[in-house]
Amino acid sequence: MGLIHVAEEGGWPSNTAVVDAHIDTVHHMLQGRDFLQRSTEGQVDLPRLQAGGVAAQVFALFVEPEYKPDRALHRVLRLWDALDRTIERSAGAMHLVRSTSDLDEALGKGQLAVIVSVEGGEPIGNDLAYLRVLHALGVRALGLTWNERNAIADGAGEDPNGGGLTRFGRSVVSEMNRLHILVDVSHLNERSFWDVLDHSTSPIVASHSNARSLCDHPRNLRDTQIQALAAAGGVMGMNFFADFLVSGEAEATIDSVVAHIDHIVALVGAEHIGLGSDFDGISRWPRGLEDASCFPNLTDALLRRGYRSEDVRAILGGNFLRVLRQVWDGTDF
Ligand SMILES: [Zn+2]
Repeated sequence: MGLIHVAEEGGWPSNTAVVDAHIDTVHHMLQGRDFLQRSTEGQVDLPRLQAGGVAAQVFALFVEPEYKPDRALHRVLRLWDALDRTIERSAGAMHLVRSTSDLDEALGKGQLAVIVSVEGGEPIGNDLAYLRVLHALGVRALGLTWNERNAIADGAGEDPNGGGLTRFGRSVVSEMNRLHILVDVSHLNERSFWDVLDHSTSPIVASHSNARSLCDHPRNLRDTQIQALAAAGGVMGMNFFADFLVSGEAEATIDSVVAHIDHIVALVGAEHIGLGSDFDGISRWPRGLEDASCFPNLTDALLRRGYRSEDVRAILGGNFLRVLRQVWDGTDF
C-alpha cells in the first residue's frame, strides 16, 4: 500500500518536510563538534538533517544542572552564541527563524529553519525581564521546567501531585502568551501540566513526550492529558529515547514509535502528533532510527502501516508547523 503512495506522488519521501521539535545538539557545538560537517559522532549535524529531509529544527538550549540556578542565564547565552556562530558559518544553509515570515522564507529557499527553545525556566530566575530579553534575542519556545522544581513549576522528577504552577509561573505563562512564545509542557509533573492547561490561552506543545499507557514513565503523558492537550489544539512530539518507548530493557524499534503514534491517533486523531526525537540527548534509540538521517525509515514505516500520505505529512511536520503558526501569529485555534 505504501509503495502505491510512493509511486503516485513521485519524489516521496524526499519532498516531505520533517520538523523535529527537540534535539540537544547545541552543547555539542559548544564542546567543539563541527555541526556543518558530516560526523559519526552524536546523532545530528547539518548533512544528516538534510539527508533526513528535516526542513525545520527546534534546537533546545539545555542548561546542565551544575549551572543552576545562579549561572543558568550565563550558560544559556553561551549556548545561544555557539548556535548563532554556527548559523553564521553556514553561509545561508541555516536560517534563524523568529517569525512565520522568517519560517516561510527559510522553507522557500530550502534553508534549514532554525527555531530556538530553552529547556527549563531557570535562566529566567524570578524575573519576567529575563524572559523578555530571551524573546528579544529570538527564543520562541520555552519548556517551563526540566525534571526538578524551579521558580515556575514542579518537573516530572518531583511528586506528580506536588507543587503545580507557582504564582510566578502563572505570570510566566501569561507573558509567554502575550509574547507569542510556545509553551512546552514536556518535563512538567502532572499537576503543573493541568495548571498550565488551565492558564494558557494559546495551544501548548509537549515537544518530546510519548504515551504513558504504552510506556509508564513520568516523562510520558497519560491518555487524559493527551486528550486535554488535543482539545486545546496542541501537539506532542514523539520521543525516540528507548526508555520512553518500551518498558524495561526491551529493544526499541521503529515499530515501537509507530505503536505510540497508533495509540494517540486512536485517542485523538492524527492532527496532534509530531516528532521530538531528543537526538543528542539520549543514550538508547530505536533500531532504524539511529540518527537524524533516518527519518525516511519512519515515513516508510507509517506508509506501510497504511497511513494516508496527508496524515504522514502532518505527523512528520505539518501539525507542529500549524500550532507554531497559530501561536506565533496569535491566530484563532
Ligand atoms: Zn528533555
